[in-house]
Amino acid sequence: MAKGMFVDTSICTGCKACQVACKEWNELDPEPAHFKSDPATKLLADHFTGDSYDNTGKISATDWRHVRFIEQFNRNRIGSRWLFSSDSCKHCTDAACLNVCPYSAIIRTEMGNVVVLQDKCQGARDCTHACPYGVVRYSDKSGTSQKCTLCNDRIHNGLGTACAKACPTGSIRFGEVAELRTRADSRLARLKASGEARANIYGYKEAKGLNVFYLLMDKPSVYGLPENPVVQQRPKSLPPLPANLGILVIGVTALVKFRERGAKERSEEKR
Ligand code: SF4
Ligand code: SF4
Repeated sequence: MAKGMFVDTSICTGCKACQVACKEWNELDPEPAHFKSDPATKLLADHFTGDSYDNTGKISATDWRHVRFIEQFNRNRIGSRWLFSSDSCKHCTDAACLNVCPYSAIIRTEMGNVVVLQDKCQGARDCTHACPYGVVRYSDKSGTSQKCTLCNDRIHNGLGTACAKACPTGSIRFGEVAELRTRADSRLARLKASGEARANIYGYKEAKGLNVFYLLMDKPSVYGLPENPVVQQRPKSLPPLPANLGILVIGVTALVKFRERGAKERSEEKR
C-alpha cells in the first residue's frame, strides 16, 4: 500500500516548523543565495525576499520543503486574506522526473515514494525540466538533482515524515494514501457544509494521482499549482528501469542511513 501525505491547508498557520524539520532531518545546507560570507561575522543574511513574511521564497536544492505564503491585500490593506500551503515533492503516481531520467537514477520504492539515487545521478537535469511542479532542483555542490524523499530512511524504519511529526496543527498527515483520502474527503465535506464553496482537493486525478495531495481553500492556480499538469513520459530510446534492483538499493541505503542517525532520533523523541 502506498504511503503519502495529506496537506490540509485550511489549518496551516504558516509557522514553517515543517520546513525547519525537513532541513534538520535531512541535514540540508543553509540556502546559498540567502547568505554571504564575512570574515568577521562568518555569515550575513542576504537576498531574503524582503517583501513578504515568507523569507525563503521557493523550493531549492537545499530547501526541499517550502511553506508558500499567499498574502492578498486590497489597495487600502483592509479585508486581507492569508493562505498558506506547505509544498514539496508530490511523489506522483506517474512521475515525470522518473520517466525521463536517462540513467534510471530516479526510482519508486515499494512504499510508493520517488527517490533520486544520489550515487547514480549524473546531473543531467532532465528531471528538473520535466517535473510539472518544479520541485526537483540541481545542486552545484553535489552535482546531482535533489528533492524530498518522503523521508525515505524514516518511513522504511516505521516512522512518519519529519515534517508531519513537527507540524503543530496536524496540517500535514503521513500514512496510507487510501486512509488519508478518507480523511480528506471528510474534511472537505465539513468545510463545504460550513460555506467554504471554493475548497477542493488537489491530487486525486493530477499525474494519475499524487501520493502527497492537498486540500486547498481556493483554485490550484492561487497556490501556484498547475490546473492540468503535463506529465512527460519515458523516451522510447531509454532502456526499461531495473525496478527490483533499484528497490533493493534504496532499501539498504535507507537502513544504513537510519542506523547512523538512530541517536539523533532518540534525542528528538526525548524532546
Ligand atoms: S512532483 Fe516532480 S519531482 Fe516529485 S515525483 Fe512528481 S515529477 Fe517527480
Ligand atoms: S508545520 Fe504545519 S502549520 Fe506550520 S507551516 Fe508547516 S504545515 Fe503549516
